[in-house]
Amino acid sequence: MPTPQDYTIDQFAGLFELQQQKSLTLRTAPLSTRKANLKKLLTWIYDHRPEIQEALYKDMRKPIVEVDVSELQPVTTEIKHALANLHRWARPRKITPTLLMLGTRASIQYEPKGTCLIIAPWNFPFNLTLAPLVSALAAGNTAILKPSERTPHTAELIKNLVADIFDPAEVAVVPGAVPETQALLKLPFDHIFFTGSPQVGKIVMAAAAQNLASVTLELGGKSPAIVDETADSKDAARKLTWGKFLNCGQTCIAPDYVLVHESKQQALLQALKEDAEAYYNEQQNGIARSADYSRIVDKRHLEGLQAVLNDAVDKGATIAMGGDIKAEDNYFAPTLLTGVRPDARVLQDEIFGPILPVVRYKDLDEAIAIINSKPKPLALYVFSKSKKNINKVMRATSSGGVNINDNVLQFSHLNLPFGGVNNSGIGKSHGYYGFLAFSNEKPVLQQRIGLTGISFFYPPYTKWVKKLVEFVVKKL
Ligand code: NAD
Repeated sequence: MPTPQDYTIDQFAGLFELQQQKSLTLRTAPLSTRKANLKKLLTWIYDHRPEIQEALYKDMRKPIVEVDVSELQPVTTEIKHALANLHRWARPRKITPTLLMLGTRASIQYEPKGTCLIIAPWNFPFNLTLAPLVSALAAGNTAILKPSERTPHTAELIKNLVADIFDPAEVAVVPGAVPETQALLKLPFDHIFFTGSPQVGKIVMAAAAQNLASVTLELGGKSPAIVDETADSKDAARKLTWGKFLNCGQTCIAPDYVLVHESKQQALLQALKEDAEAYYNEQQNGIARSADYSRIVDKRHLEGLQAVLNDAVDKGATIAMGGDIKAEDNYFAPTLLTGVRPDARVLQDEIFGPILPVVRYKDLDEAIAIINSKPKPLALYVFSKSKKNINKVMRATSSGGVNINDNVLQFSHLNLPFGGVNNSGIGKSHGYYGFLAFSNEKPVLQQRIGLTGISFFYPPYTKWVKKLVEFVVKKL
């Protein structure tokens, strides 16, 4: 086999076959094998923390604290959580028999799906490549990882990590862009775990259909935040400023736009401005000089965001804060927009950058109608003290997840499933739900007493059998 550094497209099939063979032996391996893999991964991460921080700084100027909190720690916690719970997750689950099944024993057994493909985006390139790998390994699979080409330093680091601690038959990294990903997608993987945009998610799902591979699609969308007339606008602003401008707005669950009750709009805007200054301009020498504010990933994305901002302004929006861009440095200031027309691109497409449109509403039904006019979002945030309003929003809208009186945090609760719905995703991840995504839940039914109730329905279909069927259809 080639070294992990130099897989070329014509070598993908060989690598895949190697992993397929290995997955057959992993199927019967004890849980201790999976745990050993997870421990190796954990140790490597702790031993190479400075290199991880450096790679992410080079790719996006991520502040060290943000690397630790949003890239490294989610993976280490995911590993520790799996190590502590794997014996419970993987244990066959006993199932009580139904009336007709009396005399049988039933269970659900969790078998590894086999050989899996993990395709990652660039925004949290370390976390979103390795956290799914933790679930894949916990469930006993082999995996090929395809990190994003737009964060090359982190992709290189992940390649070295995997080469250091894994046999390519078990885990391998294939760096590359669209041609490499499309070549991988032709292989008959048992499961494909994709994190990225809804547009590419459709390409992945169409390719998976050719092999009837199962998919987890972690996608994006426009996640709204409602700030109602009862909300503490200062508290909402403190949290929204962090959630929106973390990673320079390039977060799948960042609040994409705010719907604010007209009575709170001025107070919210004022508080958002003060908080952005307090977080990123403590030294009073400009946010562009802050060590705590990341950069846009590349020129292509910067230009896209600039076009979205220009389009909003051309259609009459007011820049209430920010708007400045330093192209040489991929800097895009934290930006607030008001008076945005509904047909502006900033209210149509996922923003995925530090532009926050603040849209005023009079009546909660109006806010709900705006949310329901768009594809179902990945997250929905409600800032409110009114139970009635919260319940109304919860019942009237659909989203991948909800966070009440906070934002972004739902990602970090490992006992909650994480994922979208329709346009924002298919399937769930994290903790036990990640383990399930990479496992086949195999129902096993065992006969214990020779014949069950169902044997009364064997042919010939006598009058008596027909009466019995009648009874069963009506009463059971
Ligand atoms: P993307 O869809 O452009 O790329 C994701 C991956 O797909 C990359 O590895 C890329 O190489 C590959 N790819 C790109 N175009 C392809 C094509 N035509 N054929 C095959 N493969 C292709 O996404 P991105 O720009 O890296 O990430 C941003 C998107 O990801 C946003 O929509 C964001 O909301 C979403 N996202 C979702 C989550 C989540 O957990 N739900 C997390 C992070 C990002």
